[in-house]
Amino acid sequence: MVTLDEKLEPLYAQVVRRNAGEDEFHQAVKEVFESLGAVIAKRPDYAEDGLIERICEPERQVIFRVPWTDDRGQVHINRGFRVEFSSALGPYKGGLRFHPSVYLGIIKFLGFEQVFKNALTGMPIGGAKGGSDFDPKGRSDAEIMRFCQSFMTELYRHLGEHTDVPAGDIGVGQREIGYMFGQYKRITNRYEAGVLTGKALAYGGSQVRTEATGYGSVFFVREMLRTRSADFDGKKVVVSGSGNVAIYTIEKIQELGGKVIACSDSDGYVVDEGGIDLALLKDIKERRRGRVADYAEALGSTATYVPQGCIWDVPCDIAMPSATQNELNGRDARVLVENGVMAVGEGANMPCTPDAMRIFTDAGVLFGPAKAVNAGGVATSALEMQQNASRDSWTFEATEERLASIMRGIHDRCSETAEEYGAPGNYVVGANIAGFIRVAEAMRA
Ligand code: GLU
Repeated sequence: MVTLDEKLEPLYAQVVRRNAGEDEFHQAVKEVFESLGAVIAKRPDYAEDGLIERICEPERQVIFRVPWTDDRGQVHINRGFRVEFSSALGPYKGGLRFHPSVYLGIIKFLGFEQVFKNALTGMPIGGAKGGSDFDPKGRSDAEIMRFCQSFMTELYRHLGEHTDVPAGDIGVGQREIGYMFGQYKRITNRYEAGVLTGKALAYGGSQVRTEATGYGSVFFVREMLRTRSADFDGKKVVVSGSGNVAIYTIEKIQELGGKVIACSDSDGYVVDEGGIDLALLKDIKERRRGRVADYAEALGSTATYVPQGCIWDVPCDIAMPSATQNELNGRDARVLVENGVMAVGEGANMPCTPDAMRIFTDAGVLFGPAKAVNAGGVATSALEMQQNASRDSWTFEATEERLASIMRGIHDRCSETAEEYGAPGNYVVGANIAGFIRVAEAMRA
């Protein structure tokens, strides 16, 4: 256990009291606080003026009712959320998650993480997150459309290209963004392209936005490997998940010569020692909206499907948890270390438990935290906002080059900050401190 700085301990206790029962939010705050001791030791002024307390309290939290009708005419009621955490650096920015596990604590943890992640990109974006406990699984296109329209019928009044700019997250992709953009445009009578990101190319989306979180994660891990004179070529990689982040993580790893041998969904995982067949996986997940079990079935004997198993039991050189929060625990981390893992990059938000993070760091494994590793998604959203603001669109090559250079910048900022604050090679400390300082300076100014 890391003990907190004496000035931070009461602040943490207050966060827990004020946000009772919101475990994921407590976890995210604690992780940042564990890094901030070193900052306060060097710069005690950061502990003054209620600066840290302010950073932990969202500027605004909106909770609303979302009524919608299914295809049989039955009415359903879901709960919608938007937590506008910080506008210190720019308009609130962050995704929307549609998943039955969503409650205020999940949205708050994601919003809090987003503040620091967005700061790390060096771009002018504040932090927010939103979503609903709506479960899109098994729902028809028409049901998804009606849900999105109802969701936007309340949310629109809180948004604006200079106010709050949502995008996707789990359960929200290009299709959902399209339904929501259409409703926003209709209600407001404004073609405000920059009010949502992750749009289709046909009406103001950016090249590379679909690929950005996955590609960016791989670019970050590539930079970490470089510090040990290594690269992806010939490495065995396990990527958990099979959604947008996982798919484009796999794509970029394969391009760089790595071999992704396993991926998963909430029902189980598949091992394909010959390397995941990405065209097949994309067809099943993106076009048919199917499951990993369908992938295994389509491949027959070359792939093994393990229902309900733990994907981290598969030995690999590099692990990229890209599914959801707390999907990799202390036991899993120990197994990975015993099996010789050399690098871990968090593609999802907070996928490793605090225990797991400690085990990796103590074992000298290169560990890239989510705030830094998966920041390529939101960074490319900021590039989409730039293109919308100037009514311009860039080529795939130019946009990908910008993304790669942003990820190099984030990597270098994290490693220089870690070094400066006495924790060389610790990207967790580097990301938390570099993100914090940028937000704190803006608030103070
Ligand atoms: N949901 C993504 C994230 O966790 C992207 C947010 C965005 O593009 O605004 O960073």
